[in-house]
Amino acid sequence: MFKRILIANRGEIALRVIRAAKELGIGTVCVYSTADRDGPWLEHADQKVCIGPPPAKDSYLRIDRIIAAAEITHADAIHPGYGFLSENAHFAEVCRDCHIQFIGPSPEAMSQLGDKVNCKRLAKRTGTPVFPGTDGAIEEVDEAVRVAHEIGFPVIVKASAGGGGRGMRIARDESQLREGIETAQREALAAFGNGAVYVEKFLEHARHFEVQTLGDNHGNAVHLFERDCSSQRRHQKLVEEAPAPGVDPEKRRRVCESAAALIRAAKYCGAATCEFLMDREQNFYMLEVNTRVQVEHPVTEMITGVDIVKTMIRAAAGETLPFTQDEISAKGHAIECRINAEDPDRGFMPQAGLIERWSAPSGPGIRLDSHARAGYRIPPNYDSMIGKLIVHGASRDAAIAKMKDALKAFEIGPIKTTIPLHLKLMDHPDFRNATFDIHFVERWLKK
Ligand code: ADP
Repeated sequence: MFKRILIANRGEIALRVIRAAKELGIGTVCVYSTADRDGPWLEHADQKVCIGPPPAKDSYLRIDRIIAAAEITHADAIHPGYGFLSENAHFAEVCRDCHIQFIGPSPEAMSQLGDKVNCKRLAKRTGTPVFPGTDGAIEEVDEAVRVAHEIGFPVIVKASAGGGGRGMRIARDESQLREGIETAQREALAAFGNGAVYVEKFLEHARHFEVQTLGDNHGNAVHLFERDCSSQRRHQKLVEEAPAPGVDPEKRRRVCESAAALIRAAKYCGAATCEFLMDREQNFYMLEVNTRVQVEHPVTEMITGVDIVKTMIRAAAGETLPFTQDEISAKGHAIECRINAEDPDRGFMPQAGLIERWSAPSGPGIRLDSHARAGYRIPPNYDSMIGKLIVHGASRDAAIAKMKDALKAFEIGPIKTTIPLHLKLMDHPDFRNATFDIHFVERWLKK
């Protein structure tokens, strides 16, 4: 097992990794920027190293400084968390070259699954359902037009190297498609240095369905069932839950197993999430694979009892997965609300500044993953998420009731947060009845 893990991240996920490492008897090192000098999570680490000024590009994204910090503190592994360098194959490769274990997949597995065209190709081989569309990157525009007519409009043009919703164009007819391919290629080249784009069917009404998987370096891979993350705003998830409500058990089993087959074929070590869209007839289409731990991993931990972060550390250290697929079962229902320091009444304006009041809910089935507390000053430089409130109940209705109670008991001030929005969302009929799709929050907020 590792002696010391360096955490190349900040905030709640840094704290989450520290806790997992402590339970495994491993030492911890946190790197931090000057904006995070007073970050409460740093108090829990054994050592801390300042790696630069507030802008992420000068600190949390500086591979050279992070590696130097690992070397001077004799850390033998690095956990990247999510965001920042977590899906950067070059970083994973530098770690390997420096004999520091990257806690995640090999650079090869990361590159293969991170490139959307390659990933889709592998998915087809493993029987993981994908969107109908062009076979790989577009070489001839006329060929893409032919495929679009065959699968039917609307279609979407996407960048193979895409991320963060960039380089995508929806086309409702042939002329929009021809134009969309050209602009998407230009945008993708400018943004990612890779102009490859492809075309696939565009779904108007879909739910976001994602499968949590875990793999080791001994050829094993399992799934931990799925999460529904249909409550989104601007492609950012607001609420996540597990299991996904109302899905046919046989269809669910098939798609979850196909996700495990995909990461097994990629020789994947650690935690990965296969994201799908699900249409009204409960057909699944893979969007992409996230090759890291996700923000919403706790809902899966709550229903399965598996500690995902500890398992990814153990797998990176060379251990075999401690369970087989048959040994994993799901119990009850879990919901997570992302608590963001944003003002929903003012266009979700980020709220930096001092938290004066912080009184958190507690009780059976309530979990709070947060680095914040009274007296913490939120820096303006990073993501606005200050915590995740997670509840577990025997049924979905019980979980919703518990979440409402916990949200009401959660007092944060004077900064504004998304708590009041979540309270209203829990009562929204489309949420309550699970008759939602990925655009329902935006439609509702527009009213
Ligand atoms: P990125 O890596 O940029 O986040 P994704 O492939 O995950 O790109 O797509 C981002 C979002 O765009 C999805 O969450 C979904 O809302 C929308 N989207 C992508 N592909 C489709 C599609 N074929 N049909 C409908 N919506 C889509």
